[in-house]
Amino acid sequence: MVVIGLTGGIASGKSTVSAELRRLGLPVFDADEVSRQAVAAGSEGLRLVRQALGDGYLTEAGELDREKVAALVFNDKEALKKLETIIHQIVLQEAELFLATCRQQNYPAAVLDVPLLIECGWHKKVDVVWLVAVSVQEQIKRAMLRSGMAEADVRNRIAAQMSLEAKKQYAGVIFDNSGELQDTLEAVRREVKRILGEDFGRQEKKN
Ligand code: ATP
Repeated sequence: MVVIGLTGGIASGKSTVSAELRRLGLPVFDADEVSRQAVAAGSEGLRLVRQALGDGYLTEAGELDREKVAALVFNDKEALKKLETIIHQIVLQEAELFLATCRQQNYPAAVLDVPLLIECGWHKKVDVVWLVAVSVQEQIKRAMLRSGMAEADVRNRIAAQMSLEAKKQYAGVIFDNSGELQDTLEAVRREVKRILGEDFGRQEKKN
């Protein structure tokens, strides 16, 4: 089974590409979603976070109070490290479980969609890194359009991540998503076809 690590900067188009990969029938592990679930109300992850950070970071509904946690870790690097370690461990376990299940089910390929794939060293766990690349200008435009983020906030988030040029060094395949989405999706389909060979199209999900 080929393990593909899908990554890219903020608003580069990872979710758009991973939706197409799912449509083509590939199993996709969504690290963002799993990390949210890792600290869901009542979870073991949330218990560990409470143990590490102390009481006072839960809402009345028993959920993680993300605003309070964000304010804490903004100034407290040790707390940030503790939180990241707990979540990272859970996401890692879930990813391993996901890959084991995909192998058991004889999938020819599986995708790990991980925004910080390279920063976290996960590029060593995959067979190939697929990088969705767009210019910084386009990232800013799309992030602002999508969620109404202020330009300065987008720029700060981009600056906190590894640069696109640095990420390119690790990428086996680069999808330039600066242009028309249809062109990117066509390039994605070509690449999936190349990997799956005669398996291509067998598991495609019809809309
Ligand atoms: P993040 O990691 O920040 O959540 P992402 O990398 O998953 O973002 P998407 O959510 O797929 O990125 O795309 C960001 C926005 O850009 C979305 O609103 C999406 O519809 C839009 N978009 C994606 N590709 C293109 C494209 N080629 N042209 C124009 N808009 C695009």
